[in-house]
Amino acid sequence: MNDPLGTVHHVLTPRASARQEETQPAMTFTPSTDDLLAANARYASDFHDDALQVQPQRHLAIVACMDSRIDAFAILGLSNGDAHIIRNAGGVITDDVIRSLCLSQRFLGTREIVLVHHTDCGLQKVDEADFRVELEAELGVRPWWSLESFSDPYADVRQSIQRLYMTPFVPHKDHIRGFVYDVTDGLLHEVTLGDQERPPQPGAGS
Ligand SMILES: [Zn+2]
Repeated sequence: MNDPLGTVHHVLTPRASARQEETQPAMTFTPSTDDLLAANARYASDFHDDALQVQPQRHLAIVACMDSRIDAFAILGLSNGDAHIIRNAGGVITDDVIRSLCLSQRFLGTREIVLVHHTDCGLQKVDEADFRVELEAELGVRPWWSLESFSDPYADVRQSIQRLYMTPFVPHKDHIRGFVYDVTDGLLHEVTLGDQERPPQPGAGS
C-alpha cells in the first residue's frame, strides 16, 4: 500500500527497540538516579578533595574503554587529581579523544599517555558493516561516525598508538604506552609497536 506518509513514519519511528524485544529476554530496569544522588550526599558529607589542582599531578592522560568492569584509577593505583581519564567505547583514538588530549597537553601540562583496552570488549561482538546496514534499514540514516569494532584487542591498541603518532595535535609523544587489561584476572598486558609500525616523527633526528 502506497501511503504517502509511510516514508515519514518509517524515519520518525526507530524500530530498534521493537527488534530488541523480539530477540532479547525481557529486562527489568529501575532507574538509579535517586540512589546516585543519595550516594553523592554521603560522599560530599566527607569531602577532602577541595585543594586539588586542575593540572593532573602525574602529568598523565589515560584513554580507556568505557567498559563498566574497569575502574581505571583503581587498576592503576591512581587517586583523584593524578590524571586525566578519557573514555569511550573501545578506548578508540577518535577526533574527540584527540581534542581532549590536545587540551590536556597544551593547557594542562600532561606529557604521558596510557591506553587501556581490554579482553571481552563489546566492540569485538559487533560486525561494523552489518551494524551500518542495520541502522540504515531501521532509522533511514547511516551513522556518520565509525563504530570502530575490532577482533583483536592487541591489534587495536597498536592501531591507537599509531594514530597518536600520526596526529599533529598531540605534540608530546615520547611517553605513550598501550595495554590490554584482562577482565578475568585484573592484569595489564603491554602492547608495543614493531619498528615498521612506528611512523617517522616530524622533526625527529636521523
Ligand atoms: Zn570495551
